[in-house]
Amino acid sequence: MRVTGLPPYDDTNIFARILRGEIPCRRVHEDDFALAFHDIYPQTPVHVLVIPKGPYVSFADFSAKATEAEVAGFWRAVGQVARELGLEATGYRILSNMGEDGGQEVPHFHVHVFGGRRVGRMVPKAE
Ligand code: AMP
Repeated sequence: MRVTGLPPYDDTNIFARILRGEIPCRRVHEDDFALAFHDIYPQTPVHVLVIPKGPYVSFADFSAKATEAEVAGFWRAVGQVARELGLEATGYRILSNMGEDGGQEVPHFHVHVFGGRRVGRMVPKAE
């Protein structure tokens, strides 16, 4: 059966545990609004995840409920991370999976930053 609507935030998800320091991550950036760390299964030479510090399930949840300061702080952090990783000259892709059709696995909003090689098709062919 297809899941519809937004689930409640589950504070046992893996990124919540990383935010609480319960499990380690390879951190690349942290500020008041965001934490960025290397993806454990990198898809590109550079593959970093940027997550907001607040408890948002997905982009849908974040865009609806986050404060202006959280939204601005988070997106500025994404840009800063890409800049600090040296990706601006060659380019990069940002991507966020949302819900079932988006292929979201971890229910804490996150943006993937892919770079270090040409990342190919924008969206793969239908499965
Ligand atoms: P998504 O499918 O957009 O929800 O992506 C979740 C991402 O989290 C995947 O790319 C995983 O490789 C990554 N991931 C899962 N657990 C960890 C972890 N402990 N540390 C870093 N990345 C993780």
